[in-house]
This record gives sequence, C-alpha cells and structure tokens, in this order.
Amino acid sequence: MMARLLIIGGSDAGISAALRAREVNPAWEVTVVVADRYPNYSICGLPFWLGGEIPDWRDLAHRKAEDIEALGIDLLLGHTARTIDPTAKTARVVDEAGRSKHIPYDSLVFGTGAVPARPPVEGLEQEGVFFLRMMGDGFALRDYLAEQSPASAVVVGGGYIGLEMAEALIHRGLRVTLVEHLPSVLATVDPPLGALVREGLNGHGANVVTGVAVASIDRQGHHLVVAGPEGFQAKAELVLVATGVRPNADLAIAAGVETGQWGAIRVSRAMETNVPHVYAAGDCVETHDRLMERNAYVPLGSTAHKQGRVAGENAVGGQATFGGTLGTQVVKVFEMVAGRTGLRDDKAREAGFDPLTVQLEAWDHKVYYPGAHKLHVRVTGDRQTGRLLGAQIVGHRTAEVSKRVDVFATALFNQMTVRALSDVDLSYTPPLSTPWDAVQVAAQAWMKCGREGTLET
Ligand SMILES: Cc1cc2nc3c(=O)[nH]c(=O)nc-3n(C[C@H](O)[C@H](O)[C@H](O)COP(=O)(O)OP(=O)(O)OC[C@H]3O[C@@H](n4cnc5c(N)ncnc54)[C@H](O)[C@@H]3O)c2cc1C
Repeated sequence: MMARLLIIGGSDAGISAALRAREVNPAWEVTVVVADRYPNYSICGLPFWLGGEIPDWRDLAHRKAEDIEALGIDLLLGHTARTIDPTAKTARVVDEAGRSKHIPYDSLVFGTGAVPARPPVEGLEQEGVFFLRMMGDGFALRDYLAEQSPASAVVVGGGYIGLEMAEALIHRGLRVTLVEHLPSVLATVDPPLGALVREGLNGHGANVVTGVAVASIDRQGHHLVVAGPEGFQAKAELVLVATGVRPNADLAIAAGVETGQWGAIRVSRAMETNVPHVYAAGDCVETHDRLMERNAYVPLGSTAHKQGRVAGENAVGGQATFGGTLGTQVVKVFEMVAGRTGLRDDKAREAGFDPLTVQLEAWDHKVYYPGAHKLHVRVTGDRQTGRLLGAQIVGHRTAEVSKRVDVFATALFNQMTVRALSDVDLSYTPPLSTPWDAVQVAAQAWMKCGREGTLET
C-alpha cells in the first residue's frame, strides 16, 4: 500500500506542502482536507476584488482545483477536520452534510492558518460589522455592499489589510474613516514613513484617526456608531474590523501539539511539531526569525508558501530546512507603496545590537527621464560591526519599492554589511535606476553618518 500524506487546510501552506510532496516523492498518496470550497485562493487579492479592480473572484485562484487534482493530489473540499488521533494516525473529518469519516495517514501537515483577531470591542456581532479572512468573508462583504449600498464605512485597524480595504472602499465610492489605536498607521514602518502613508490616504479623502482605541459599535437606526475614549465617535453604514489575526491551532492543540507565542504551533526549522509524523506550516505556526535567531509570529502568505514547501518535502521523507523570516513585507496604498524588511531601530536595540538608522530621499531613476519619483528610505545597521539590520522604503508605485526592499532583504538574508551592499553590482539604465541605485545611495549615506559618528567600516 502507498504511504499517505494528509494535509489539513488548502490555502497557501497546505497546497504548497501538497505540491512539493508530489514533486519530491510521487510514491506518496496526498490528500488535502479543505473546510471551504476555495482551495488555493489568493485571499491576499480580496481587497483588490472587493475594490472592483479585479472583476471576477475566480481569477483570485492561484491554481484551479482541477489543475491541483491533475497533479495527483486528492482534494476533499467542504470537509472539516474535527479530531486527530496521533496514536492511531487517523483524522476524523466531517462533510457539509454532517457525515463523518476517519482518514488514516502516515504523515500529517497542519496548514489551518489563522482567524481574525477579535479586539475587545462591544458590538462586533451585529449586522454591518465585517471581518475579512476567507473567501466566504469576502462574499459576505460583497453581498452587503451590493444589497445595502452603504455610503460610508469605518475601518478599524491601520495595518496593511485596513489600509488596502480603506482604498478598496474609497474606490467603490464610500466615505471612509480609518481608526488606528497606535499613534501612526502602518506600524510595521517607523512613524515618519507611516506619516507619508497617512498623507497619501488623506489625499484620497480618507479621514484617518490615530491614537484611538475603538471601544464599542452601536446601531442607531440606519447607522453604526463607532465610539472610543474622550468622546470619539464615527458614524457609518458599514464597519470593517482589521486588527490582526490569531493562529488557528485548536485542532492541533487537542492532538497534543505544543504551542508558543500567541498560541501558534511550535515547529522546528524542518516544520516538525513535537508529535511524531506531524508537521505544520503557515499562519498557524511560530516562525523562525532569521535575524533574531529565535521564534516569532509573522503570519504572511510569502512565509506560508515557503514553510508549506518545507513541510511537504519533509513529510514524505525529505531533509529541507526553512530559511527563516525577515518580516519582509510590502503594501500598495493608492499610488504609494510602503515596504520593509528586517529590524527597525527600536527592535534592533532590544535585540542587543547597537543600531544606527539613517533616513534619506533618493530618486528612483535619472531625473531627466520622465516620471522620476523620490524614494524615502530608512536604513538600519549595527554601528559595531557594520552589519545591515533592516530597511524601510516608501515611494510611488512605479518606483520599484518592493524590488528595492527585496535587495535589502537578500543582503540581510546573507548577513551582509552595509558597505558590502554598496559594492553589489546592481543594474542601471536611466529610465529605471541611477548609476548608484537608491539602495546604494542609502547604504553610502549610512556609512557616511557612521563615520561622522562612531562607526568605522
Ligand atoms: C485581505 C488579506 C490580504 C493579505 N495580503 C497579504 C499580502 O499582500 N502579502 C502576504 O504575504 N500576505 C497577505 N495576507 C496573509 C496571507 O493571506 C496569509 O498569510 C496566508 O493566507 C496564510 O496561509 P495559510 O495556508 O497558512 O492559512 P489560511 O490562508 O488561513 O488557510 C487556512 C486553510 O485551512 C483550512 N482549514 C482551517 N481549519 C480547518 C479544518 N479544521 N479542517 C479543514 N480545513 C481547515 C481553511 O479552509 C483554509 O483552506 C493577506 C491576508 C488577507 C486576509
């Protein structure tokens, strides 16, 4: 009989695991159990579909179900795994009609993802209040927008999903108030760059409120009233709550799997749990932080794909290792893109480094060629060793912010110094870059600043 790999969850992590397992060891039978009917959908694309930029939700599929099945992967759609018995090596799954069956496995991968975090706000349960995570959440929001035609919305949470959804709702013609409890939006970049993102949102008519922790949502006739301290009130016909996620790990915990930060499944860099033959990947697990050399919870699709691939390979006898996260992330808000990787000054200091952070502006390409834009770059490095620790960039969407962040990420991944980054042979043509690319202009500014201070590189 063939060995059997069972994967719970059919999104980024689960399908990546299935594809890799089939690739490296076709002798294994691979089954993926998926609670909904949307395997391998790019939920990252939901804001763009809801905003109307992508007309058909079906186009969000990374791959169609039939393409996955054509690769020899069995998809059990509309089936929810209820219990795992790691001794008998079976999973009990229940279909939409409530019928139960036991599926045996030799290796198991949890790819159960995350669920929206529910902030301590009264009134989250009422009509007109939405969370956004799975395709079903997207359909519910789409239906409400179509049937109720709300003219206004409050978005609670100024992280990347809140920002993307503020843009999406403005695209649809709604008046949007975005409320963030921290002093700045997009807290994954430093406040001076967060302020630029806020300006961009304001420029498109969003009312951005920071430093307010929403406490309650009450219905008053046709409106929902979102209230906070010191008399804060915002009225709208729709409220979207985007205040982060928490790992969906209850099934694994009940099977004896250990958890760590935020209740995420604890895994080795081989994506193995403490339970024999059980692996886990994606938003349900703790992530190896490559710079801090310890575990963190960084739920991102980019990471889920990589971890899923490692889990899938190892679950069928491979020897792969997850390289670790740097927290590399990018978001587009109207014409603006904000990206970041590695440590910011405060986190670097907490981690025991001696950080120096330099902020500067640099052109994305030669100014004489039409369409040049200034990039706002912040670079953090260690004064003692000259090691690059992190970078953040905000700039126009045509200014290749994400690829420049990726250059920093590549340097970080390979533990390069800021000076070494300045020496890398990067490409140049006037319509696209400058002879010293903005990344290197920033590296050199950092070195100069360091020389004027204490750094000797
Ligand atoms: C609006 C939005 C925008 C985003 N944008 C970005 C972005 O731009 N870049 C980025 O890197 N990340 C982004 N993310 C995050 C990214 O989508 C997640 O990190 C990624 O989806 C995690 O994949 P996953 O497979 O771990 O989990 P999930 O996508 O959460 O999938 C979990 C899967 O498990 C299934 N499941 C759960 N429990 C069971 C069970 N008991 N039985 C059977 N099936 C089960 C679910 O049906 C689903 O198939 C975004 C997320 C959202 C919501």
